Amino acid sequence: MRNNREGLLIVLSGPSGSGKDTLLSELAAHADDDLEFSVSLTTRQRRSWEADGTHYYFVTREYFEQKLKDGEVLEHTSYSGNYYGTPKTTVDEWLANGKTVVLKIEVEGAKRIRSLYPNCVSVFLLPPSLEVLSQRLFGRKSEDESEILRRMEIAADELRHASDYDYLILNDELDYAVSDFRAIIRAERQRTCRRKYMIEEVTKIQ
Ligand code: 5GP
Repeated sequence: MRNNREGLLIVLSGPSGSGKDTLLSELAAHADDDLEFSVSLTTRQRRSWEADGTHYYFVTREYFEQKLKDGEVLEHTSYSGNYYGTPKTTVDEWLANGKTVVLKIEVEGAKRIRSLYPNCVSVFLLPPSLEVLSQRLFGRKSEDESEILRRMEIAADELRHASDYDYLILNDELDYAVSDFRAIIRAERQRTCRRKYMIEEVTKIQ
């Protein structure tokens, strides 16, 4: 039955510092074979703990612009002065193979994906408060103060789009947030629209 299965595209957004990376690495640590995480292209500097090809593909502006011209980027945005974009081919291949594909992208990209893939499922990760968000950004020491203030401004704007999403997860306790995200994936995989093939398989005359 596996081969007839429909893929599931999940879009995860949330302000910088809301905990998207931590949530996804927890999810990946106990993921099944059907879960795939898209790795975006970015022109921003790599943070000390990030690995090229795992967290992002860290590329030059010239390389990014060439990929755009070649039509190899599904959606892209400019965030705090850098390009970020989702590679097209891998996402479409995974979906065609019935995989669950997770995109970690900001609100403009999410809007674009919703229009390209109306059946996608969108999830917004909410920090408990702007104060906690600011503490987390200062605490991780990966950006200087002016960059953090810029990210806080973007965050306030992104929060205004939170109600456009299918699901809201509050990240005040990581374990609960991870389990909520897993529950969403599990339930969405079982929606009738994604499982019609099962009825045909079950009723097929041998
Ligand atoms: P960061 O610099 O903190 O890794 O990412 C900044 C923002 O860009 C985050 O909200 C992140 O989700 C978003 N982002 C990362 N990759 C992509 C992408 O491929 N497309 C879009 N639209 N946003 C992305």
